[in-house]
Amino acid sequence: MRILVTGGAGFIGSHYVRSLLAGRYPGYEQAHVTVLDKLTYAGNKENIPLGHPRLELVVGDVCDRELLLGLLPGHTAVVHFAAESHVDRSLASASAFIRTNVQGTQVLLEACLATGVERVVHVSTDEVYGTIESGSWTEDWPLLPNSPYAASKAASDLIARAFWRSHGLDLSITRCSNNFGPHQHPEKLIPLFVTNLLEGERVPLYGDGLNVREWVHVDDHSRAIQLVLTRGRPGEVYNVGGGNEQTNLAVTELLLELVGADRSRIVHVPDRKGHDPRYSLDETKIREELGYAPETDFAQGLADTVAWYRDNVHWWKASKELSRG
Ligand code: NAD
Repeated sequence: MRILVTGGAGFIGSHYVRSLLAGRYPGYEQAHVTVLDKLTYAGNKENIPLGHPRLELVVGDVCDRELLLGLLPGHTAVVHFAAESHVDRSLASASAFIRTNVQGTQVLLEACLATGVERVVHVSTDEVYGTIESGSWTEDWPLLPNSPYAASKAASDLIARAFWRSHGLDLSITRCSNNFGPHQHPEKLIPLFVTNLLEGERVPLYGDGLNVREWVHVDDHSRAIQLVLTRGRPGEVYNVGGGNEQTNLAVTELLLELVGADRSRIVHVPDRKGHDPRYSLDETKIREELGYAPETDFAQGLADTVAWYRDNVHWWKASKELSRG
């Protein structure tokens, strides 16, 4: 069995790849993995065990049709993580988001059809639903994305669904809430704040800090993706939420406590444009249909994540310098 993982050198994709190669997914202990990754600023070769006998890294673009047509034969399944993933960058310019997230998904799925790939999982996000004041989104909620990032992901979801509906491509979609864990690029909230605190700097909290996000450990998300790959129904969407809702301020306070700092390290900065007040997913479907349940306790997972950044300064220092320009 050979699986192609797009974006497998990024945060979530690489966790999925490391878990697969470590034999943590039943029935896939001997699976061979091809990572296709452009190694943008967000991709890092150090995230995957290069030299592993069942791993091949192909540095390339998911928009490159010829590359995909040559690469895909022999692969039974594709898990599609590759994307531009940072909302703030999409506010500065949406071009790369439309190209990679929308066009890249179309090119990839056409190549999957042309080469007879048997199964595809398209990894998406809760941000496609927009914002919700109370209650939680089920999978049939209308898509009302508010940022260019979310809009590009919503477009890619619809393209993916259309390839199932029109062409019969065996494909499922996951929509997960905010992930946290090791190996996340230091531009994202938790790693940005942890690394700032470790460097003795302050943390820039958007607006009043009362925006609510639902946090899922990357390990739980990866297991959910594997469940959907193996047992998800074609054409279906599966929310992956976890139920752990926190304001950004509450997460910040937990991080301050974990590094032994006080609230004077918080600096309130003008709110992000169009900042969604609240996300909340109803994940009854994946729990009841596929038996999924998150396993990582938030407080413990967060403490472990902080410890990982403390122990792996070399991993994030260079990326952080680069992001600062
Ligand atoms: P990431 O930014 O850490 O990684 C993205 C990876 O894709 C990088 O390795 C990058 O080099 C690669 N990539 C970018 N453009 C490419 C291209 N044109 N061709 C090939 N490779 C390319 O992102 P992440 O946080 O790991 O997210 C992975 C997926 O999960 C994305 O599709 C994202 O929308 C989705 N998602 C993320 C979260 C989250 O909280 N991080 C939550 C839900 C869903």
